[in-house]
Amino acid sequence: MSGSSREVLAMETSHPDHVISFGKKKGCYVSRCVAALLGVFFLSGMVATGLLVYYYAPHIRDSQRESLVLQKPVVPLHKSLPAPTRRPSGAPTTPESLRPEAQRPTTSAAAAPTTQALDVRLPTSLRPLHYLVKLQPFINGNFSILGYMELELEVLEPTSNITLHIADIITHNDTVTVAASGDQVGPSIRIKMHQYDHDRQFYIAHLGQQLEKGKKYVLSMEFLGYLNDQLRGFYRSTYKDEDGSDKMLAVTQFQATDARRAFPCFDEPEMKATFEVFLAREENMSSISNMPIKETLPVENQEGWVWDHYDRSVPMSTYLVAFVVSDFANLKSRANENTFFRVWARESAIQQAEYAGQVGPLILNHFEKYFSVPYPLPKQDMIAIPDFSAGAMENWGLITYRETAMLYDPVVSAASNKQYVVAVVAHELAHQWFGNIVTPSWWTDLWLNEGFASYVEYIGINHVEPKWQVMEQFVLREVQEVFGLDCLESSHPISIPVGHPDEIGQIFDRISYGKGASIIRMMNHFLTEVTFRRGLSNYLDAFKYSTAEQDDLWEYLTVVAHQDGTLPPDLTVKMIMDTWTLQMGYPVIKVARNPDGTSAVISQERFLLVRSENSTDTHDYKWWVPLTYTTEGEADFNQTQAMVWMKDSEEQITLPSLPPKDQWVIFNLQETGYYRVNYDDHNWNLLIRQLRNDHEVISTINRAQIIDDAMNLAKAGQITYETALSVYTYLAKETEYVPLAAAINNLGYLRSMFVRAGGYGSLRSYLLDILVPLYESVGFEDSPDDPLLDQYKRTKALSWACLLGHQHCLDSASALYRTWMANPKNDSIISPNLKSTVYCRAIAEGGEAEWDFAWHKYLKSNVGAEKSRLLSALGCTNEIWILSRYLEMAFTSDSGIRKQDAYRVFGAVAKNVVGRPLAWNYLQNEWDKIYEFYGKAKPHFIKYATGGFNTEQHLKEVEHFRKEHEDHLGSASRTVEQVIERTKNNIAWMKTNYDVIVKWLDANGYATKLSTA
Ligand SMILES: [Zn+2]
Repeated sequence: MSGSSREVLAMETSHPDHVISFGKKKGCYVSRCVAALLGVFFLSGMVATGLLVYYYAPHIRDSQRESLVLQKPVVPLHKSLPAPTRRPSGAPTTPESLRPEAQRPTTSAAAAPTTQALDVRLPTSLRPLHYLVKLQPFINGNFSILGYMELELEVLEPTSNITLHIADIITHNDTVTVAASGDQVGPSIRIKMHQYDHDRQFYIAHLGQQLEKGKKYVLSMEFLGYLNDQLRGFYRSTYKDEDGSDKMLAVTQFQATDARRAFPCFDEPEMKATFEVFLAREENMSSISNMPIKETLPVENQEGWVWDHYDRSVPMSTYLVAFVVSDFANLKSRANENTFFRVWARESAIQQAEYAGQVGPLILNHFEKYFSVPYPLPKQDMIAIPDFSAGAMENWGLITYRETAMLYDPVVSAASNKQYVVAVVAHELAHQWFGNIVTPSWWTDLWLNEGFASYVEYIGINHVEPKWQVMEQFVLREVQEVFGLDCLESSHPISIPVGHPDEIGQIFDRISYGKGASIIRMMNHFLTEVTFRRGLSNYLDAFKYSTAEQDDLWEYLTVVAHQDGTLPPDLTVKMIMDTWTLQMGYPVIKVARNPDGTSAVISQERFLLVRSENSTDTHDYKWWVPLTYTTEGEADFNQTQAMVWMKDSEEQITLPSLPPKDQWVIFNLQETGYYRVNYDDHNWNLLIRQLRNDHEVISTINRAQIIDDAMNLAKAGQITYETALSVYTYLAKETEYVPLAAAINNLGYLRSMFVRAGGYGSLRSYLLDILVPLYESVGFEDSPDDPLLDQYKRTKALSWACLLGHQHCLDSASALYRTWMANPKNDSIISPNLKSTVYCRAIAEGGEAEWDFAWHKYLKSNVGAEKSRLLSALGCTNEIWILSRYLEMAFTSDSGIRKQDAYRVFGAVAKNVVGRPLAWNYLQNEWDKIYEFYGKAKPHFIKYATGGFNTEQHLKEVEHFRKEHEDHLGSASRTVEQVIERTKNNIAWMKTNYDVIVKWLDANGYATKLSTA
């Protein structure tokens, strides 16, 4: 951002001296209530506060409780009011195996079935048109939220009840009214009964008469919420300002199903409506929402409070609505003539927002061109929140981030932190089109949202940081990473029917994001850039402010592909893409050349690490595969449009016109196809020879592909480890980061299998043999001016050399850390890129003093990235009692560790060879406590604690864990299945490969033989 103007609490509105009016828009529905309700509302606010004490007593400190004096007797509550918090046991409200897609009633079922096939979808008889939402959060009080809402509805089918979502909100039945809207003034419609369906999170107003089809009505109600500390709905976040005093802010996180925790609503993505928001705040704070502030007006009879009244929004889904009330600072800029841009952060961290403020507007402009659809809102705010559960959230016009995803300090943060910031910024901005303008009709198509944003984010980064080679990094970070998950039988198709919130929660996983992005990249390449972008932009335009499904996108792309001739007339995008989105997994393409080499039989088969003997899966896995290849003679790696289509009905095809047998062929150019490739031994040997002679003949990405495919084919028993490790013999000459990282990542698996076994010493010598030359070539001296990928290479080499106990690395790390301890004020002694390794190794080698020093640095640091790094490093200690204490601290409020960071602590302890048993024990014993701590399951913890499990005993323990917690695994149930399968695979791997590799190491001179005399 040029000419960064630092402003504190600058809002662009003045305080006009008239009382708030609800701005009568059309008809009378918004104004009718005002005079009467506003008065009653805030009077009854006190009553409401009383109720809140009753419901939230455990959360409210005694001092606060005393200050609440009831002005009136408490209104008796309806028996079936929703409970304000999740039941402590964490037991889920509904069975796991829901498939509510099947049928949707057109009117609400009055009885709330709690049977297995609980339909959690709203009836479709009503359509929300417009919400007026007023909220007054008492951030500096007892955390209550006074709420009022008017909702205009259109009747699509006659119905005598109104059903909407509500959770953790208390309503007064007396305040609920229903009346005709617009000019049809009339008496309000009698509500016969108020029903709260806890399991489905419904409020149902049973009416005394039927609502007429085609007519509009307004439902209004008052309600009472609570600023929780569970990082969802409308919640509170805390931080310390520069003087060390505690500050509070209120912020929202609604995706996927938590808007209903802030105000009653039709909380499904398809139910788009316009929103008009009023937020009350104390005058010394400021508020932001999706739209700009229209006017700011005093709150009647409340000294020091004002209403921020926001412009009416465009039609949008409830999960994209957002509010923040804070005392944050902001930096202003413009993206273009039409779009005002601001970044927000704690005042003492606002300078760290400069980089996001710089790249954000550039990326927004780029996406306008890329999608050929203008950004529709007059402004974009981005804010860094101290407590945030996800990385960031794409709320329309108000993107919220965790601090590490938006803030970057060039002195303290590493190069990878910078890339993370621009990646998340680009991802969330991509959603402003893909997700916000056009939204998936239901969560089943979530992958479309996330896959697109995860792919297009690279295009955004590439635009602002063209030297970072992110399109190459993509293969490493997305394709190869998700290949590792999608080769399990417990994987899932990316398009998957979901219903219950727990199920929806499960699909925000690496498969939806990484595989989604990978197959969209594949599509981009087989359709060609021009066709792909034209199809996209037509699609976005056609479904603007509406919702769509994957088939709609396929249709628009097919039309353009046929016009452009990039697909044959008898082939559609749907035919191809259905095989990638509706089935799980991916194929391995086997290329078997005939004896003279000039032709090859190409076959496809699902790539599985291990095919379980008693699998009940009888599905015939076949894909439409875009085949691309080059030969030794051509060595042209740029042709990424399908040269041959392998059909989903073809098990094998014969490809003629290949070169003679002394020349190699390579398939899947630039690894744009979402598949692995295996060759006959002879072709493997030709590739190995080429790599040794002149590896640069093969493109950088394809070198990374060959390494990753070879190691995984070996892991699955489809080629020998001897062949795979022969590929590694050229590595000393490799200088590019992407293939080096692919190689090192794959060695990680070998290390994790060996690290507790007797053969580890031999493997370690082998790994050092590979890594020490790299370590020596990059050196311990870091330079921030080096190309980004050179910096990454150094970071990787150092972390591995130290991890393997290379003495020079350990000594250098400890020496640097000691220098820092002796000069604690000088935080630039250790280069930001090296900090992770230096901290971790020094703490591992050291004792309590080293640990305590890092802990104090953590408490004092003002930079999120540095805090995260220190938290991870603190888990590196080898002192078991310190690790135990650290785990306890992670799940204790007020320990100094934020709830959002507990996973980092847990993950670090679990990653530590000494810490893993502690982490696993902790998880088994305290699952309920952790569940309660977050109010939901956290699948990652199970993955961390079981990493590298490879014995029968481990398997028994995980199976026991599954049985023990069967009823409250929530959104972690799939993860447990994946962990069980992973463990079984590891056991099988050990049986097949451990001895073979030990022998191979022996034969190659890496044995650690001890003398016996
Ligand atoms: Zn996303």
